[in-house]
Parts: sequence; C-alpha cells; structure tokens
Amino acid sequence: MTVRDKEIEIVWNDKHVSLYPNKFLRQKCRCAVCSGEPGLTSAGLSMPNVEPPNVPDDVSPTRFGQVGSYGLSVDWSDGHNTGIYSFNYLRQICQCSLCSKR
Ligand SMILES: [Zn+2]
Ligand SMILES: [Zn+2]
Repeated sequence: MTVRDKEIEIVWNDKHVSLYPNKFLRQKCRCAVCSGEPGLTSAGLSMPNVEPPNVPDDVSPTRFGQVGSYGLSVDWSDGHNTGIYSFNYLRQICQCSLCSKR
C-alpha cells in the first residue's frame, strides 16, 4: 500500500489496484462516531447521522496501523483516529472503473 499526495493506493494480492482519495476514505469511516450510533450525541438522543462526516478538503492520513489480518486503522489529520477499515470493506468501496460498474 502506498500513500500518495492526495490518495492512498492499495495493490491487492490478485494485482487489482485501488485508489482512494484521502477525503473519500475519511468520509467512508464506519466507526461508531461517524456512523452516528445511539448514545453518542451530547443531548443523549440518538440522531441518525446520514450525512458524511464533516471533513476538511485537505484531510490526510497521519498514521496507519495494521489490525491483524483484518484491516487497517487510520489516524487522520483532523484528529479522528477511531476508524478501522477492513480489507473486505476497502475492496467493496474500490473506485476503479471495473468495480464501480458492478
Ligand atoms: Zn470514524
Ligand atoms: Zn477496483
């Protein structure tokens, strides 16, 4: 996996290449905070959060960690660091012309 200026590149075992713009990947975070799980709002009410998280345009990953063989944890420059991206999920959200056709 390669971190470029504005995107992250992953080359899979089957030679498939996926490119993820930083902001796109940040917005695709599925952690409890970003997916708006109940009990996390300040009012104590569960508000479904369907909007993508509010993310600066120039957000970038500051640190990657591997989570076993399961996926990647990413620290972002906007301070968000609870996101884990499973490899299955990353492959699902691949943006290449081949995958987006499906
Ligand atoms: Zn998140
Ligand atoms: Zn693809």
